[in-house]
Amino acid sequence: MISFNSALLLLAGSLLLSNAAAFTPISQRATSSWGVTTRSTQGPLYAVDETDFEGVDLVRLLGMNQLKRMAKKNAAQNAAPAGGATKLIIAGAPASGKGTQCEMIKDNFGVVHLSTGDMLRAAVAAGTDVGKKAKEFMDSGKLVPDEVIIGVVKDRLNEKDCQEKGWLLDGFPRTPGQADALAQAGISADCFIFLNVPDEILVERVVGRRTDPETGKIYHMTFSPPDDEAILARLEQRSDDTEEKVKVRLEQFHANVEAVKGFYTDISVEIDGAQSPSEVAAAVSAGIASKV
Ligand code: AMP
Repeated sequence: MISFNSALLLLAGSLLLSNAAAFTPISQRATSSWGVTTRSTQGPLYAVDETDFEGVDLVRLLGMNQLKRMAKKNAAQNAAPAGGATKLIIAGAPASGKGTQCEMIKDNFGVVHLSTGDMLRAAVAAGTDVGKKAKEFMDSGKLVPDEVIIGVVKDRLNEKDCQEKGWLLDGFPRTPGQADALAQAGISADCFIFLNVPDEILVERVVGRRTDPETGKIYHMTFSPPDDEAILARLEQRSDDTEEKVKVRLEQFHANVEAVKGFYTDISVEIDGAQSPSEVAAAVSAGIASKV
């Protein structure tokens, strides 16, 4: 079940415009099987004065595709007149579901997705200076020093595509020093999305996580294995997705997370990341819509 506040009004408004069932003749008013109750006292034939969406499961009611379309429309309507591209930060522990939600956010809000983990892995693979400096830290599950990563992110955010389309920072800032560096550079976000997941769930998610090197798609050996034998055979495990290394990564996460969150209290949206991916996606879309 999803709790929506102001974003619900946006979604409910679209629902009323798009769903003919909401305009029930007065004589036929009733509470639907979805739990949506409409009450009306006015209008000659059809009218809706108040709609009570308390406790409505919007994913079930509208379906993910409809929710995505609505979120996209809202993002476009809200972001454009505000005179600037949407700027988002998503944070959460390793395997909290950031990657999955970033796919959805990127599609719906049209922003450039910047994962510092992916950027650093690419730098290591390409053997760049940054990659050489980052490798030993990444291999042991530790954070790469601020001075190695901050410049890379600031430069990337200044590039044309990020300026024009807006951006979604995934995995940055991870330390108060990184958050402070963004603030000092005058780089601010519209919404800070935090996915909250208990550590015991995270460890289970991390050790079973596998990536398809051909598509980049992420699977889980228990929760979402691929159906296709050929995909199963080529899946790879990240070298830092072991139980030993995830413990180090979680320690680093817990040592910094509260200080980082402190930079963004006014734009924060905290979401229960232990829900299903579609429930998290609905809550993330609503959270963003409430801030941008
Ligand atoms: P991720 O893919 O986000 O789990 O990141 C993988 C690894 O990249 C982390 O364990 C760190 O070693 C490094 N890394 C990614 N982002 C950052 C960051 N913002 N600050 C420091 N290290 C990072």
